[in-house]
Order: sequence, then structure tokens, then C-alpha cells
Amino acid sequence: MKTRKAIFLDRDGTLILDKNYLSRVEDIEYFPDTMKALQLFQALGYELFIVTNQSGVGRGYFSLEAVYVIHRQFQNDMREQKLFPFKDFAICPHSPDDHCACRKPSGQMIKELILKYHISPEHSWMVGDKIIDAEAGKNAGIKSAIIRHADSKEFPHYKTLFEFAQTLKK
Ligand SMILES: [Mg+2]
Ligand SMILES: [Zn+2]
Repeated sequence: MKTRKAIFLDRDGTLILDKNYLSRVEDIEYFPDTMKALQLFQALGYELFIVTNQSGVGRGYFSLEAVYVIHRQFQNDMREQKLFPFKDFAICPHSPDDHCACRKPSGQMIKELILKYHISPEHSWMVGDKIIDAEAGKNAGIKSAIIRHADSKEFPHYKTLFEFAQTLKK
């Protein structure tokens, strides 16, 4: 059987600048290397997923529909860049006070995507800008990397997403 490998990506602070409760399409701002990194992931045969905590929904700052609108814009941007769209999005809309089972560092959102899309955990990565992202990957039984964040001893960290992508090349 063919191996299906995936990169699970955090959204804010990883693909786009973290604008603190981003809710408007106009405020989407990609990092300079984001598209280059996504292109390399896809060239290497990885499926791409976004796994994001959006507690702004649970806190009442914006609606889940506003999150969907932003994700639809991502898909348009991918097509415009001649990339495949993201395979799927997993969103935790809860606030920390909800004590839900899905909010990262829980591995639940990743685990569900792994099952749904028959992804091979041992060939897949979670990448984010916070320790909780890497912990979510660990809790889901996949490999994890942190970008931009410099003080983790447990997880490998890289300056940028593209720098991480290049390490997958061999
Ligand atoms: Mg983040
Ligand atoms: Zn949740």
C-alpha cells in the first residue's frame, strides 16, 4: 500500500502572522517563505492539513463562519499559487475554560485526521510556533518541529517553515 504522509500545520504564527484573534480576510498576511515551504512539502509528496485552536470563537470574539471564510481564502490563495489546496482543516473553537478534548496540546484533532485520511503517523509531522503544537503532534504519535520559537530542548526547532521543509528533502 502506498504511504500517505502528511504535514499538520498550525495556522497563526506559522503560516500567517499572528494577529491575535484574526477574524478578517483583509488581515491575512503570509510569512515571506510560506508558499515556498508549502510548495516544497507538496513536491515531496506530503498532504497538507491545518490544525488550529480558535478560542476567539468560544470567547465570542468572532463566529465559526468567520473562520471558514478565512480558510476559503487560503484555498483560493493556494490555487492561485498553483498549489494543491489544503486537504482539510481541524478547528478547535473552544475557549480554555470549556476544557474540551480537542484544544492543542491535545492530539485529538490530528488523530482524527490521521484516521479519516489513512495517514501514516511515522512519516508525518506537526509543525507550529508554540510548544503546545509540538506537544499535540507528540500526543498524536507523530513527529514534531517548532519554528521561530527558540527554547525547546525536547523538539527540533528551525528559524522558518522553509528551513524545516528543506530538512525533509533527503
Ligand atoms: Mg501559532
Ligand atoms: Zn476544543
